[in-house]
Formats: sequence, structure tokens, C-alpha cells
Amino acid sequence: MVQTDQIFTGGVFHHTLPDGRAGAEIVISPIEIVATTLDAEPRAFVLKLSHCQLELGGASGRMLFCRNEDRSLTIFSDQRGFSSALSDASFGVLDDKLRELFGTQRRQKTRGRFLGLVSLVALAVVGVALYFGTLAAARLAVRALPISVDEKIGAMAAASMTAGGTLPDTHSATVLVRSLVSELRPHSAIPELDFRVEVIDDPQVNAFALPGGRLFVYTGLIRRAESAEQIAGVLAHEMAHATLRHGLQKVSQSLGIIAAVQLMIGDVGGLVAFGSQVAQESVLTSYSRSAETEADLEGARMLHAAGLDPLVMGEFFEILKHEHEQLPAVLAWISTHPQHEDRIAEIRKYRDSLPAVPYRRLELSLEEAKRELAEP
Ligand SMILES: [Zn+2]
Repeated sequence: MVQTDQIFTGGVFHHTLPDGRAGAEIVISPIEIVATTLDAEPRAFVLKLSHCQLELGGASGRMLFCRNEDRSLTIFSDQRGFSSALSDASFGVLDDKLRELFGTQRRQKTRGRFLGLVSLVALAVVGVALYFGTLAAARLAVRALPISVDEKIGAMAAASMTAGGTLPDTHSATVLVRSLVSELRPHSAIPELDFRVEVIDDPQVNAFALPGGRLFVYTGLIRRAESAEQIAGVLAHEMAHATLRHGLQKVSQSLGIIAAVQLMIGDVGGLVAFGSQVAQESVLTSYSRSAETEADLEGARMLHAAGLDPLVMGEFFEILKHEHEQLPAVLAWISTHPQHEDRIAEIRKYRDSLPAVPYRRLELSLEEAKRELAEP
């Protein structure tokens, strides 16, 4: 069997070379490896295969090093076929070592993959913990922030949301909802909050609160209500969202870690800018179920304190529940407030836990507001 020499590119380590190393062309023949340096004055280094001690390494982990016994000379290459050429040329003498090396490498790869997976999982766990940690921190930070942050966010959002126009101050519908807010305000958890209410000319049965207490009621809701007390129920619920600072909490959750960090380092300016945008979006989507329940119960507390029956809130859900079945698209307010049967039951339970008092009716005319809304 004639064995032809095989040529590879690689390099040499030897103390006589400049920098101790040089690129080389490597020829493997049946007895020896000859590495000829690639510089202007080529030099040949010879290593007997029988003296070759093999090691794997390099950045790729695939570089195969042949060293002599005193390690003064090393010839190396990571070219494909280098190891099998060594195996062939040594007539099997190097096979055990090669098998050992490449077996080791495979095991290390497997272990590396396993460790990689473990660290990925660990990273994910840390990430999730950090995320929920910062969410909790954001909730705490929201409580620590002055209410003026809510007001700033709300004012910025309001400016762009009422571009379509609101009913004039003199309109009976505006007068009515402002009177209702005045009835409720003294019983709010934050009476000094800048509760301002406007009526938006829109057929949707809808109402919302922006952070800081800016309230909006749609003409569709006023038209649909059967009593001024029912509108008071909706307003109490919305005012509760503002005093419970659900808007700011939602903003900080939507912006996630960025907002949490900003809140923690006290960079409120950035949060206000982002927040007004998120606040606009968040009035179009629902709060969490627990936030809605909180707002229901706080609203019920306010109504009770104002001498109004908390069940008016439930009455409105009943009306809308019926309509909701027929006109789901129109009833934005109720559709973002799901599980109304559960909520009515919760409000009823809460009312029953309160000391029984005679509730009053408001001397405010819903009819006049409706009449003016009907005018062309
Ligand atoms: Zn709500």
C-alpha cells in the first residue's frame, strides 16, 4: 500500500522563531510530521510521529497540537482531515489518543450544552423574578409618587383625547355631570384631587377616568341612563379608578421595567411623556378584574357616604347587560367591564355589610339633559 503524503496548513511553536511561532505548511508522512514555515526564509521542523503527544485546543476547540516530549516543539493544525491523516500515518499508534481526545471533546460539548441550558433556565428564572420584583416595586413606587404625577399624565392625555370637542359648560348634560361629581367629591378618598368632568359627544355608552381625576362621560351613556343616580354610580366607579391610581399602575405595568426603574430613580418627566400615551391606550382597554372590583367597592363606599344607594351602580350594569346581548359593539363601557353579574353580587354583598341608612334621591334633572341632547 502506497501512502501518499498529505499536506495541511497550520503552524509551529518553537523558541527559535520570532514571537515563538510561525504559520507553516505541514506534511504528514508515515514516520514524521514536517512543518515548513511560511516566512521569507522557510525553516523546516520535524516531529517523529512516535514521539507525538496530542492535545486538542484553540479557540475552536478543534485545533490539534502535536508536541514532542519536552514540549519544545509543537506543530498544529485545525484543518479537516488532519487527525485522520495522523491516524493513518502513525499506523494506528496515535489512534487511542485521538479517540480519547475526540471522545473527551464530544463529552465536553454535551456538558457544555447542558450547562448552557441550565444557565438559560437560571437566567429566565432571574429575569422573571426581577420582572415581578420590579412590578411590585413599581406598585410601591406609584404609591410613593405625588398625585401631581397622575395629574400631569392625565392632563397630557386629555389634551389629545378631547380633540373632537366636548359639550359646552352651559349644556345641561355638562351641568348635570358636574353637579354629580360635586356630590361625590367630598366623599372621595382624595377630595383635593382635580376632578374635572367633560361630556364627549359620542353615541357610545361609555365613560372613563384619566389618571389624576379627569373624567369623561359620553352622551350615549347619558341618553341610556334611567336616572341621575345611575350616572352617579358610573362616576363614582370612575373616580375610584383615579383615587386608587389604577391608571398610573397600568402605565407602570405597560412600560414594565423601564417605568419601574424610572419610578425608582425618580425620573418622573420621562414617565409622564410615555404615560400620557399609555393612558390614552389604557382607557380603551380594560383594567384587571381585581382593579375593577376595587373600583366597584370604593365607588360603592363613596355612594353610600354621599347618601346614595350603592346599588345604582348595579342597576346600570343590569340595563347594559340586557343591551349588551343585543349590541355588543356599541357598549364599550360595559364590554370593558366584564362579569357584571359577579360584580353586582359583590356590590350587593358590600352594601349589606354597611349600616342600613335611608338613601336619598338627587334633585337633579336627567330629563332636561336628555331633552337638550335630543335637540338638533
Ligand atoms: Zn372600571
